[in-house]
Amino acid sequence: MKEVVTELLNWYDKNKRILPWRQDKAPYHVWISEIMLQQTRIEAVISYYERFMKELPDISSLAKVSEDKLLKLWEGLGYYNRARNLKKAAMIIEKQFHGIFPNTYSEIIQLPGIGEYTASAISSICFNEKQVTVDGNVMRVFTRFYNDSSNISKESTKKMIHEKLLSVIPKDAGKFNEGLMELGEVICIPNGKPKCEMCPLKRHCKSYKNSNYFFYPVRDDKKIKEEIDMTVIIPIYDNKILIRKRIESGLLHGLYEFPNVVGKKDLEDIHLLGSEFGQVKDIQKSICYTHVFTHKKWKMQAYFIFLESVCCKDLFYSISEIETIFALPTAFTPFLYALKEVLK
Ligand code: SF4
Repeated sequence: MKEVVTELLNWYDKNKRILPWRQDKAPYHVWISEIMLQQTRIEAVISYYERFMKELPDISSLAKVSEDKLLKLWEGLGYYNRARNLKKAAMIIEKQFHGIFPNTYSEIIQLPGIGEYTASAISSICFNEKQVTVDGNVMRVFTRFYNDSSNISKESTKKMIHEKLLSVIPKDAGKFNEGLMELGEVICIPNGKPKCEMCPLKRHCKSYKNSNYFFYPVRDDKKIKEEIDMTVIIPIYDNKILIRKRIESGLLHGLYEFPNVVGKKDLEDIHLLGSEFGQVKDIQKSICYTHVFTHKKWKMQAYFIFLESVCCKDLFYSISEIETIFALPTAFTPFLYALKEVLK
């Protein structure tokens, strides 16, 4: 790729998208955006990022934020441990680095929640350290450029690409990394035909020369996700709804949810489950929603349980309270929309 480095840098200078975290090279901004961008599209991240920065504009405010507020700011982004690790890392930076973000790869990678990719991104973009970022976008561009059939699902392929890129990375390391990733996102795209005519690498790209981009990258077939049936119970009393905090470990821990149990339940069971919260007046079948996680799917059937008396009034909240105070994971938000229809 040595022969296309200058073209890539020039292309990036002229074509990079204007994004809120690209307004400066402050490590705090790059760090938060990189963590948010893991598993989430750029367009979806922008509003989260802006809201986060408004509430927590610097390392010190992040180190001090309460867990509930932090999770509320992260609501909808998923993988909530990422948010918890941000706070842990901010506390370490406050304590061990006097509130100043460390400026070398070897220090950055010691922080919680920061792996090789993020440490490389921050150290190259903010401090121009010669570190390479290899993500799915970069691997796609690389394997198409060289017509390389190595399996990108394998760690050895990632390592090989890392080493090859490290041997050509220029002084302007951050721009090189950002340029390659941007190229993968907007030109050498994953779905559909790449926009080769607009690509700064095309003069030397083998996929362009051989018209065979569709063979690359080679990867393992996606694993089939485990499907789990769930029954969601939504107790309603006096136009308020019961929600509870999830147990402190495992998937979505520390977030809020509507009570639920594994498996499909019949009306008798649902009545029994509902009566744990008070005297059941009526049961309405609500929507069915399937939420897809990385390794599993929850197929959820919800029921509204209308109660005429309750044993724990303090656990019931209005819809607006749920929306503003509690971090409700995306897996449960469709039921909140369904509730709005029923209670309006
Ligand atoms: S020329 Fe086409 S296939 Fe090659 S890197 Fe550019 S967009 Fe991808």
